[in-house]
Amino acid sequence: MLSLIDSHCHLADVKLRDEVEGVLARADGVGVRRMLSVGAIGPIENDRQTVEIAERHANVFAAVGVHPHDAKDATEARFAELRELARSKKVVAIGESGLDFFYKHSPPEAQEASLRRHLELAAELDHPIVIHCRDAERRLVEIVREVGMPPRGGVIHCFTGDSAAAREFVALGFHISFSGILTFRNAEKIREAAPVVPADRVMVETDAPYLAPEPYRGKRNEPAFVVKTFEALARARRCDPATLSAQVVANSSRLLRLPPS
Ligand SMILES: [Zn+2]
Ligand SMILES: [Zn+2]
Repeated sequence: MLSLIDSHCHLADVKLRDEVEGVLARADGVGVRRMLSVGAIGPIENDRQTVEIAERHANVFAAVGVHPHDAKDATEARFAELRELARSKKVVAIGESGLDFFYKHSPPEAQEASLRRHLELAAELDHPIVIHCRDAERRLVEIVREVGMPPRGGVIHCFTGDSAAAREFVALGFHISFSGILTFRNAEKIREAAPVVPADRVMVETDAPYLAPEPYRGKRNEPAFVVKTFEALARARRCDPATLSAQVVANSSRLLRLPPS
């Protein structure tokens, strides 16, 4: 059995948090040994629960931040609370932050201001940044160039751009993480971008409980399902699965500075 890391899931989500033990057991059963659980969705309580789950489970690590959907609530008080939570040794990344100009649940100006603060916080705390980007590739690149990439780098999670966007993000220093969208029939553009990402920058994720890969599309997602996305990624990159699994585990472990397992 191949080993994998799910580089982005939301274990504190109401659809997963009451059965985290079962979710982790099913993940372990298919080789998904470790995962990054991301808070950032809704109120600070979500980040707090994310850190608590990571502290209870040796193989779960945490990211804290404010999702671009909630950027209008990214006050200085909220950043002070995030800084406090980030004192936990299990917090290994800042985010997810970024830009979502598809949904625009927060005004673009609020999203951009929050992104700048997250980039600064990641640099200050010496952590990588987790970026969410939807229909905003150009603006995201501009802002990261202006503020500067955090010294520990970052990842574009749930990559949905084309080959040109992948090349641009890689040139900036980002890792690129592919989600279950890669398995969707209409995702040809993303599959074409998959081989563009260098072997030392590619990662894989579920974004659970959202975005379940085929054949589970439409169901509640969970970290065990990352295997399906991984298989699609191996096909898109024409890469032997054993080689690719070693690459994604090494890349996630290095970026997030995970302790040896
Ligand atoms: Zn996201
Ligand atoms: Zn997410």
